[in-house]
Amino acid sequence: MLTPHIIAVIGAGPAGLAAAESLSADGFDVVVYDQMPSPARKFLMAGRSGLNLTHAEDLETFLSRYGASASWLEPMIREFPPQALREWAEDLGQPCFTGSSGRVFPKAMKASPLLRAWLARLSAQNTVFALRHRWAGWDETGNLLFETSHGAKRVTAAATILALGGASWPRLGSDGGWRRFLPPESFSPLQPANCGFMTALPPAFHEQFHGEVLHSVTISGVGQSARGDVTITHQGIEGAPVYRLSAMWREA
Ligand SMILES: Cc1cc2nc3c(=O)[nH]c(=O)nc-3n(C[C@H](O)[C@H](O)[C@H](O)COP(=O)(O)OP(=O)(O)OC[C@H]3O[C@@H](n4cnc5c(N)ncnc54)[C@H](O)[C@@H]3O)c2cc1C
Repeated sequence: MLTPHIIAVIGAGPAGLAAAESLSADGFDVVVYDQMPSPARKFLMAGRSGLNLTHAEDLETFLSRYGASASWLEPMIREFPPQALREWAEDLGQPCFTGSSGRVFPKAMKASPLLRAWLARLSAQNTVFALRHRWAGWDETGNLLFETSHGAKRVTAAATILALGGASWPRLGSDGGWRRFLPPESFSPLQPANCGFMTALPPAFHEQFHGEVLHSVTISGVGQSARGDVTITHQGIEGAPVYRLSAMWREA
């Protein structure tokens, strides 16, 4: 299929949908491709335990959370700050609230009503979805290559946006398989983020207490601390304060 005027957005997670929303609002013909049978599966999973959209802290503190990445992310975050994200969700009919920790959630807590309204907006802006299309690089003339249930498909696009996600939760589509189609120097190596950590506590402790929640505890390390609920897992700990510190602990 040769459709040279289209903009191809590959990946129907929140990053791809946001790109498609902005481009289609500006009048471009956008086709969103995804290898899964439905869009935004990881986003829907994210909402299962409460979709934390953003944080209500002041912008300077918020920017400081991004550590070394703040320098390149800052212009984008200033362009679309947390308050704008909140207003975007509310404009899609999802009122938000700020929890006691300062985190911002849609009142519905789940991602599904937000996603439904988002997809309806994209449809009204004539965005087309091509699902069950696995991107497999480019052919020798620069056409996009897709594997579909009907065989290989070539697409000529005026521009392409890759919004392929990371490599966690592969069953939801984010399998990192796209890395083999790009030169290694064109992307940063994938690293775990928002991850749990193993502890040095005896296995018997975890056997006895896994699943228990420690409420409002402060955890600290590498010069940073965070407060909130921590869950004891089979081998370690998880929870919002652990996730907040996980990138720094990973580097330590
Ligand atoms: C349990 C859980 C809870 C979470 N909670 C929160 C939360 O409360 N708040 C929050 O902000 N974030 C949360 N997240 C993280 C959030 O879900 C991700 O940050 C977000 O989904 C990333 O968006 P993305 O569009 O970059 O990538 P993804 O959502 O990973 O989307 C990438 C898309 O690309 C597609 N794709 C990949 N390779 C190909 C290919 N070769 N061809 C075609 N399509 C391809 C995938 O199928 C996928 O649909 C949570 C995640 C999990 C797993």
